[in-house]
Amino acid sequence: MSPRRNSPRRKAARGNNAPGGPPDEDALMLRITGGQRRETGPDGEWVTRRIPGAAATKVYRCPGCAQEIPTGMPHVVAWRPYGDGGDRRHWHSSCWERRSQRSPRSPRY
Ligand SMILES: [Zn+2]
Repeated sequence: MSPRRNSPRRKAARGNNAPGGPPDEDALMLRITGGQRRETGPDGEWVTRRIPGAAATKVYRCPGCAQEIPTGMPHVVAWRPYGDGGDRRHWHSSCWERRSQRSPRSPRY
């Protein structure tokens, strides 16, 4: 015998992975992760973060075009959600967007 509780259904239990979740979830994620967002590309899942020019104080090499990203240039940093962050890469914003539009058959960079 189990005691029956008549609890009202609460909406949007946090942490639940509802299939085809509401767009709200993205906004919530943005809030709790401080500007990061999750993206799914042809090569899997990534977490990305926009770096404003003021925060770009180092020169990075973009894996998309093998060119340098100069200091002061707004860009994107991306890493695998299930890694330890050691695979973080800095991309030109345009290179990052182009990457996600590639077909799944294109060669790996
Ligand atoms: Zn680039």
